[in-house]
Amino acid sequence: MAKCAICLTAEATQTGSHLLSAFMVESTIGKRGNEKGYILDDEPNFDYRINTGAAPIVEDYLFCRGCEQRMSYVEGYVCSEYRDKFKKGAFHSNFKSVSEKNYAIQEAFHVNYYAFLLFLCTVLLRISLTKKKLFNGFELRPDEQEKLRNLINECLPPYLDYKVKIKQTHFLRDITQKAELFQDLYFVLVTYENLADETTSFNTADPYYRLPYNFMFGQVILYFFFSKPRNGGKYLDFFKLLDELELDKVINGEGNSLKTVFIPEDRWNQILDIPRQLLLKNKMPGLMQLFLQEHGKATHNPPTNQEWLDFIERSFPDADK
Ligand SMILES: [Zn+2]
Repeated sequence: MAKCAICLTAEATQTGSHLLSAFMVESTIGKRGNEKGYILDDEPNFDYRINTGAAPIVEDYLFCRGCEQRMSYVEGYVCSEYRDKFKKGAFHSNFKSVSEKNYAIQEAFHVNYYAFLLFLCTVLLRISLTKKKLFNGFELRPDEQEKLRNLINECLPPYLDYKVKIKQTHFLRDITQKAELFQDLYFVLVTYENLADETTSFNTADPYYRLPYNFMFGQVILYFFFSKPRNGGKYLDFFKLLDELELDKVINGEGNSLKTVFIPEDRWNQILDIPRQLLLKNKMPGLMQLFLQEHGKATHNPPTNQEWLDFIERSFPDADK
C-alpha cells in the first residue's frame, strides 16, 4: 500500500478524505452528508444533470489516519475563528473593515496568519495530489508541492497515541515559531458580501493560470503566489479581477493580519460568467457535430437554424436544481 502523502512514513489508509473542507463547499454543494454537486464538462455528450453529491471532492488512500486528524485540527481552527465569525457581524471588534473604490477589505485581527495559510496549503496539496476529475488538470510544480508538503508536515500538530491533543495556544505558538517555512508564499483572498443563489459558484482550479495560481472554492476566489508579487505587475488572471485591486493593500504575506477582499454581488456574478462562457465555447464544436449527425440520420434536407436551436433546447433542459 502507498505511503501517506504528508508524513511519507505511515500507510495511506484513510478513506473518504475531503479535498476541500466541508465548510468551504457548503455554500455550493450543501451540508456534509447531504451534498448536491454537479460536474461541468465540455464533452458534448456529458450529462451535467447527474447529481454527484460530494463524490468529486472525496478521495481514498492519499493520507494516513494521523495526518487526516492533524489536518482536521487546523480546519477546525479556521472554521471557528475565521469562517464562523467573519460573516456573522457579531464579532466586529475582531475585524476592521476599510472601503476602497469598488471593494472593501476586512482585516481579521484574531486569526493566526500562519494557521490560516497552513490550512490553505493543505487544500492546495490535496487538489494537486488528487486524480479526481474535478481537479485532474491541476498540479503544482514538483518543487512547490514538496515545499508545501514539508511545511504541512512540520507545522501540523503532532499525532501521538492515536490522537491529536494540543492546546490551541501551544499550537499557535509553535506554528508562529516556524514562520520561515512560509517565506515567499503570498495570497489574495476575495469573497462577496451577499449572493442571492450561492449554489451558482464553482469549485475549480484553473490548470493553466499558474502565475499566480487561480482558484475558486465556493465562496472564495484565491490567488496564490510562490514568490512576492510586485505592485503594478501583470499577472495571469482567469477571473479578470486583480487589475481592479490595489495589490499592496490586499495582498496577504509575511505574517501580517489576514485580509479578505469583499466585492459586490453583481461583480461576483460577472466573474461567474467567465468559466461558463469558456465551457460553452469549448463545448460548441462537439455539439454542432452531434447535431449534424442526428440531423443527417433523420433527413436529407439541409439543417435550419431553428432545428439547431431546437437541438440545443433538447440538449440543455433546465438542470434539476
Ligand atoms: Zn501521514
